[in-house]
Amino acid sequence: MRNYLQHYINGEWIDSTGNETEEVINPATEEVIGKISLGTKEDLDKAVQAAREAFPSFSQTSKEERVEMLEKIAAEYENRKQEIIDTITDELGSPVSISENVHYSMGYNHFSQAAESLKNFSFFEDRGGHFVQKDSVGVSGLITPWNFPTNQTSTKIASAFAAGSPVILKPAELTPFAAIILTEIFDKVGVPKGVFNLVNGSGSVIGDGISSHPDIDFVSFTGSGAVGQKIMENASHTIKKVALELGGKSPLVILDDADVEDAARSAVNHIANNSGQVCSAATRVLVPSSMKEAFEDAVKKVLPEYPVGDPRGDNRIGPLVSKKQWDTVQSYIEKGQEEGARLLVGGTGKPEGLETGYYAKPTVFTDVDNSMVIAQEEIFGPVTTIITYDSIDEAIEIANDTVYGLAGYVFGKDPKNLRKVAGSIRAGRVKVNDAEADFAGPFGGYKQSGIGREWGDYGIEEYLEVKTLLGFPSED
Ligand code: NAD
Repeated sequence: MRNYLQHYINGEWIDSTGNETEEVINPATEEVIGKISLGTKEDLDKAVQAAREAFPSFSQTSKEERVEMLEKIAAEYENRKQEIIDTITDELGSPVSISENVHYSMGYNHFSQAAESLKNFSFFEDRGGHFVQKDSVGVSGLITPWNFPTNQTSTKIASAFAAGSPVILKPAELTPFAAIILTEIFDKVGVPKGVFNLVNGSGSVIGDGISSHPDIDFVSFTGSGAVGQKIMENASHTIKKVALELGGKSPLVILDDADVEDAARSAVNHIANNSGQVCSAATRVLVPSSMKEAFEDAVKKVLPEYPVGDPRGDNRIGPLVSKKQWDTVQSYIEKGQEEGARLLVGGTGKPEGLETGYYAKPTVFTDVDNSMVIAQEEIFGPVTTIITYDSIDEAIEIANDTVYGLAGYVFGKDPKNLRKVAGSIRAGRVKVNDAEADFAGPFGGYKQSGIGREWGDYGIEEYLEVKTLLGFPSED
């Protein structure tokens, strides 16, 4: 049993001033695997005070010192590899291969990329008539969701450390244990006291406390649009800088010269990865009308390559994170049928033989119109939609007919068409033919998918303020 009933504040594990706790459940077994303490506003105040006290010295550390710190963190993160993989599989239910190749690996890449980006980062520029100096934003409050327990925490923390900003992290209550390991890593490598503070707790107490705290200068949030809105409202009272990474309903545009089986595999992969609980997943698959039947056949053919089941077994799709998430996904599958979409594969209920655990059937709807609820709202489960188009211009129009703009995907061969579609999708990240991730490239959304960018040098910029210096005597 993992019982973590303390918060990490000012370089020490300390008891909460309250005594409320919350159980953490393994979604594959539905068993309680531990509990965390739900922090109080008093705990948060202590963490903010520690971060404020750390700010003057940490913000003045040299770039070289912070590069060294990030490199030490990356090395110690590697030392804890197996534990990180096991922990994420237990708390989130992701298959071991995904816990390793996606979750573990993304966390590692954010720390090592931040070190690399920092080496080449310029905090002082001579721009002819003036100088620009970039200063740490101050104290940052970080609020993260459950679906990527090391990715979202690590990208925020790595960028903040690179920029010289002390932080207070509040991870999601459903998957808090990976952040405990991160905290132990920071403690082990000697991150100065007060620079990293962990306060576990609920969104309504600690999350709300962070977004409204007068001594926090910047809030970086990843999660749902509804909570993002509340955070902006709260932050407005103290004119706090806010970065938001929210949801998506990303398009995957299949061109008519694409290999139909590869394209179908790409589409299924999006809903298999992390059981579809991915903000940047493609969940609207735009297929040329002439290819529709062949594509539907190919989806049925490749689906058996993605077995659902025990994340510790040889499966590619694990359970959803919680009963609540399972219920939400079921209601969207019902909604799709009511709206007149046709179930190609999947449907409501649990896959055969998987009565225990929050398993959902990978579900593909076809004959979908882009105006349907299942094509407009984020489902956050293994559910996708097939929508047909008759010209590239129509595909672009449908792709952009959404309130979201987090990601886009194009699959095909003709470079001119690939460029046209990729360049026209209104989203922060567009991948052609399942290109590999590049952690130096910025990540973030257009429209209601958010404000700001994470990863690499753009991520570091978020944790900085820009000062113009005029008449400043230059060094000679
Ligand atoms: P959520 O918004 O409910 O919770 C996210 C975090 O916010 C949690 O730590 C939660 O405790 C906290 N929170 C809840 N209420 C709060 C409040 N009033 N004030 C401050 N904080 C509060 O989201 P979730 O259910 O944890 O995650 C799923 C959602 O996150 C999906 O909509 C998904 O698209 C989105 N998401 C976006 C990205 C991205 O990078 N764009 C990544 C992952 C998830």
